[in-house]
Amino acid sequence: MVTILDGKSVSEKRLELLKEAIGESGLYPRLATVIAGSDPASQMYVRMKHRACERVGIGSVGIEVPGDATTDKVLEAVSRLNRDPDINGILVQLPLPGRVDTERVIAAVDTGKDVDGFHPTSLGLLMSGRPRFAPCTPKGIMTLLAEYHIPVAGARAVVAGRSIDVGRPMAALLTNADATVTICHSKTRNLAAELRQADILVSATGKAHFITPEMVKPGAVVIDVGINQLNGKLVGDVDFEAVKEVASAITPVPGGVGPMTIATLMENTFAAAVMRTP
Ligand code: NAD
Repeated sequence: MVTILDGKSVSEKRLELLKEAIGESGLYPRLATVIAGSDPASQMYVRMKHRACERVGIGSVGIEVPGDATTDKVLEAVSRLNRDPDINGILVQLPLPGRVDTERVIAAVDTGKDVDGFHPTSLGLLMSGRPRFAPCTPKGIMTLLAEYHIPVAGARAVVAGRSIDVGRPMAALLTNADATVTICHSKTRNLAAELRQADILVSATGKAHFITPEMVKPGAVVIDVGINQLNGKLVGDVDFEAVKEVASAITPVPGGVGPMTIATLMENTFAAAVMRTP
């Protein structure tokens, strides 16, 4: 019988615990989001993050930069937030409009406020096995695995996707947790054979229903990061209905990885506030 890894209910539980911890700490953490332009998906994600802040007792500020803004304008917004002692966490919603130099913007975020964990320093610390802020999606996945007592040490993990927000940090976190990790990507030869090795398979390709049962070892744990539209419906990278017949555990889309990402952002923001406290 397959276990559905219910990220929605685990995230609810984590948010409740976090709310209590924030209340007991006497701190009032604050998160600032920076959004450039009017991409509806980005606006929806930012709204969800602000709502989660409200729920757990984190203050939130939303900075909106016009979609035609230059890199310098976005950098100015980040720099103001870096200097603001009342702001603990800064999240620059990606993707930024094409003309904005995303790497420069990410590198401009104060590393003590880098709750998204995309700054080269945060990624370097993660790679060296001493993470400060790990990116929220892969860190949320590690939390979900732990909540379901899924053994990671010694497991063979295969990650499909090598982005800096998901694939690479996912591989680093799994490595830090003593898994044997393979990263696959668009140039991987014989992808299905690589994926079939996985005890833990994480897919972050952004390709709807790309992962089929033939690519999954019977009994594998399947984590679906993808958020894709298919015939007007939100679906993951994994053909859920078919793959759940072979997997031992699987995340649904929606209700799996997505809510864990937001809960982890809240946890990172509180951690940033605690770190700042003398
Ligand atoms: P990305 O486009 O930056 O990276 C996609 C990766 O998939 C690339 O590394 C690419 O090499 C790999 N890939 C593409 N086609 C492939 C193929 N045929 N075979 C093997 N690998 C292939 O995307 P991303 O930012 O990593 O996001 C991936 C997906 O996850 C998207 O659907 C995105 O919306 C979703 N996402 C979800 C959350 C969440 O909280 N649930 C968070 C971030 C991203």
